[in-house]
Amino acid sequence: MDFYIDVILPLPLDNLFTYKVNEEEADFLNPGARVAVPFGKTKIYTGIVSKIHNEKPLVYEAKPIEQILDKTSIVTITQLEFWFWVSRYYMCTVGEVMKAALPGAFLLESETLIELDKTFDHDHVSLNDQEYLIVEALQRQSTLKINEIMQLLDRKMVLPLVNSMVAKNILLINQEIFEQYKPRLLRYVKLDERYTKEAEMHKLLDDLSKAPKQREAILTWFQYYGNSKKPVLLKTLSDESGVSASVIKALIDKEVFVEYHLKTDRIQFDLDDVEQTFLLNEWQEKAFNEIQEGLENDEVCLLHGVTSSGKTEIYIKSIEKIIAQGKQVLYLLPEIALTSQLVSRLQAYFGEQVLVYHSKYSINERMEVYTHVLNKSSKARIILGARSSIFLPFQDLGLIVVDEEHETTFKQFDPAPRYNARDAAVVLASIHSGKVILGSATPSLESFYNATHNKYKLVTLDRRFGNVQLPEIEIVDLQEKYKKKKMTGHFSDKLLKEIKLTLEEGEQVILFQNRRGYSPILECTTCGHSPQCPNCDVSLTYHNFSNQLRCHYCGYHMAMQKQCMACGSVDLTTKGFGTEQIETELKALLPDAKIGRMDLDTTRGKHGHQKIISAFEQEAIDVLVGTQMLSKGLDFRKVRLVGIMNADNLLNFPDFRAHERSFQLMLQVAGRAGRTKNRGKVLIQTYNPHHRIVQQVSTGDYLGMFNEQLEDRYQYKYPPFYKLVKFTLKSRDYSKTNEAAEWFSLALKNVFQEHVLGPEFPPVARIRNEYYKNILLKIPPKQSLGKTKAHINKILTSFNSIGNWRAVRVIINVDPY
Ligand code: ADP
Ligand code: ZN
Ligand code: ZN
Repeated sequence: MDFYIDVILPLPLDNLFTYKVNEEEADFLNPGARVAVPFGKTKIYTGIVSKIHNEKPLVYEAKPIEQILDKTSIVTITQLEFWFWVSRYYMCTVGEVMKAALPGAFLLESETLIELDKTFDHDHVSLNDQEYLIVEALQRQSTLKINEIMQLLDRKMVLPLVNSMVAKNILLINQEIFEQYKPRLLRYVKLDERYTKEAEMHKLLDDLSKAPKQREAILTWFQYYGNSKKPVLLKTLSDESGVSASVIKALIDKEVFVEYHLKTDRIQFDLDDVEQTFLLNEWQEKAFNEIQEGLENDEVCLLHGVTSSGKTEIYIKSIEKIIAQGKQVLYLLPEIALTSQLVSRLQAYFGEQVLVYHSKYSINERMEVYTHVLNKSSKARIILGARSSIFLPFQDLGLIVVDEEHETTFKQFDPAPRYNARDAAVVLASIHSGKVILGSATPSLESFYNATHNKYKLVTLDRRFGNVQLPEIEIVDLQEKYKKKKMTGHFSDKLLKEIKLTLEEGEQVILFQNRRGYSPILECTTCGHSPQCPNCDVSLTYHNFSNQLRCHYCGYHMAMQKQCMACGSVDLTTKGFGTEQIETELKALLPDAKIGRMDLDTTRGKHGHQKIISAFEQEAIDVLVGTQMLSKGLDFRKVRLVGIMNADNLLNFPDFRAHERSFQLMLQVAGRAGRTKNRGKVLIQTYNPHHRIVQQVSTGDYLGMFNEQLEDRYQYKYPPFYKLVKFTLKSRDYSKTNEAAEWFSLALKNVFQEHVLGPEFPPVARIRNEYYKNILLKIPPKQSLGKTKAHINKILTSFNSIGNWRAVRVIINVDPY
């Protein structure tokens, strides 16, 4: 009898590949183990065994495998089941799912680049001959391909060796983004205790009469501390006194100043006094009990709790119950970078049992977490992660918490699998017979619909923790303010007044503008020309700080133009405004305030987010201007005022979810105000003060918004009633993209008739010199999903057989929102 295995390869190819094994290998292998297999003429890939069987493939001769890479499987049977579900539901290949699911280090292939780990200590690790050869070669040239290592060692079977060297931290897989997750520390200085006595102080100043710079530093410190009574950053001291950091360092060495650090991801309760002892208040307790009861019958529970109602504490108690049963818990977050506060909170509570998983972690960290989860180690009881963590090898998953479940970051847009981690989490939990808690102050329409139609259990929490009132929300009519000349730049008199008042009382302000850069469009007043990106169909955005025009789609940039590129006129104006302009205007209006900005441009570096969040927490910033990053669950203690600079560009966004999204964004940003004692205030500037959404935000009327939007969705045949599949055709050839899209939509219309919309060019129809065209398919509630997808696949197969359109790619996006 012959033995064969079906192997999943990390490639966008539809079928699994069958390889030949001998009886012994067939016996040894289990589904989920890695094998190295030849592919094409020269390539070697790492694949995952999905099935072991005796059926000879009909159309090709099965090749033998190169080698078995694992003694025990690294992918579980439930994972394989989940992968196949993702591939079926989101219409991608299981190879694409595998690529997204496994840390890159598991998937070495002949083209993978290897380099030396910089931290590797040559003197203290003994290497065998082959390891030595590789290390030596990498000291001469910085990277090697696996292929080249094969030549170097004159053998084919190098993957296990390379794998083990990666595990021993000798080698690194190249092309990975390394981003360690470490709490950042800011440096502060204070005066040594001794000098708090006046006499000592005077003596010190006398002693330093010959060191004027050191003296200056001390006097500045006094002045600064005396005025603000806040911790003094070393950097601030140096800036304010004009004295260099080395002078301050000298004072630290003399023990005049004491240097200390404050953790940037400030744990709001000190680690010492947490000690797992907090109690839920009456309302939290009630919600907690309702959730537990609900989950006895339902698989999914939606916790609708207003901002700052203490949802996190309810999750914590629920998690505690599950890990006490020896099960694993997955805590899904929309974005790790923005949620360091939460990471510390959970780590403070659960300590060693929490691991964080993030696609930007170094390859070793990711492999480590993966292995801990696979082995069900005690370190991996609770996994905190962004969307990709649904692919970890859970053994016994008791609970998935999806925090801020309305966030769009749970959806992966590119590349395939284009999954929504929140929706996939529900399936994943059911495979494990586990439960799901979805939580949000502004649930997605889909989830709330499910919760009000007996699919999910609904639990409501409508009080803030500590009985703080929800912020008072006021609308400012921009049209009227402009007419009455009550505007300074983009600030209404009302907003300015409130900002000043808040700052005078020593509290903080958040200003929200959902656009980065200085102003989106530079326009010539003579001929109307505005500079365009050469690669994309979009105007360039003016960035004042770098004095550049930039494309937000492809990163193209050029120096700011002094003259119109079309007619040479010097009369140029800017249209629209972004965060940078708000920051600039405010600096001119309030020269004494410390103003910070948080958007994609200021948070690029490794710890970009962290730096700004902590500076704001430490009150090194008074007013924080930012984009929607500010809406993501941050918990600041001293924010009294939130200003939404312009509600209209949110509302006018061309998308069927624009109104729902605007409501969520505005209410979430508003929720950053007044989280502790004093009631917060929110001002919304808009040209449409009577817009339903603006009104609903101002009264916090989630139900009103829900009912009205649902009506629209019903009327216009959108989710949650109809399902959507979006097809994007793209190529570098304009007319081919066009023709192909016509053909494709006709083929779809033959089957689905009026439920096919398009083809249509998206608002930005050319990006990086590729042309895009979209087709939308709406699937009515009663139409079978399986049959619909079968039809689509047939059409796709015919399409792919047309040689003329080989260069046109079809991207399928199921639930494209
Ligand atoms: P949400 O996630 O609902 O916006 P949080 O969970 O961030 O709200 O809670 C708001 C604030 O109240 C946090 O600072 C949190 O530490 C505090 N808090 C909530 N519940 C409790 C509790 N039971 N005991 C102590 N502090 C709590
Ligand atoms: Zn011009
Ligand atoms: Zn561009």
